[in-house]
Amino acid sequence: MPPAAVICDIDGCLAPETSEAMDADALARLAHWNRNAIREGDRPIVTLCSGRPEPFVEAMCRLIANTRLPAIAENGVWLYMPDANRYERDPSITQSHLDAVHALESWARRELGPRGVTIQPGKSCSVTLYHEDTAYLRSLVPMLQTACRACAWPFRVSMTLLYINCDLAFVSKGTAVRRWIARTGIDRAHLLAIGDTAGDLVVRDEVARFACPANAQERVREQADFVAGKPEIEGVMEILEWARTL
Ligand SMILES: [Mg+2]
Repeated sequence: MPPAAVICDIDGCLAPETSEAMDADALARLAHWNRNAIREGDRPIVTLCSGRPEPFVEAMCRLIANTRLPAIAENGVWLYMPDANRYERDPSITQSHLDAVHALESWARRELGPRGVTIQPGKSCSVTLYHEDTAYLRSLVPMLQTACRACAWPFRVSMTLLYINCDLAFVSKGTAVRRWIARTGIDRAHLLAIGDTAGDLVVRDEVARFACPANAQERVREQADFVAGKPEIEGVMEILEWARTL
């Protein structure tokens, strides 16, 4: 049976990992897919699951014409409900967690700012750090982990391809998929997820099937039920055609 919904990562899947232009023609084809899915009910609706800030995910959600299913933003902090124009923060995040986010952000600005590290704008319950020299950025991870331990800040510090993410340790794309399932009532048996990096494997554990575009990391390709022959969004379109045949 084809999946009822597809939960898809953005960077490295629907858009390039770098700041290159997005493939607007392919995104228009995905919007066409979603309009048909909603109107005809003949294929799964594609929604999003991303580490990007909520406004970025909300814009992408509207661009791909998903007007129906919640989208996951900021590595699981937010569910954006396009049908109701509502945003729901993970309810387990308290004021003291937000205080820790602000404390970490101040620390990073003070200690890492002079080293050329910038804080990605738009995050609300996490801190994402960038430096143009990725190897140098990676070398700062142990320092951040030590600071979090010393100050008892409850963060998981991890390196993505280009950024350091400091996420509240009890929030992830995986916990958000569980919230998504509770809200939509769509069972995990009817879900397909698409991702390209190791951070997406927590989503893999929450759904029935997992697929990736050709550019995915080796570890991710090994755990996928289907690996597309093409990279990024062309690979995602290939995955969607495969999903229809299930
Ligand atoms: Mg990605």
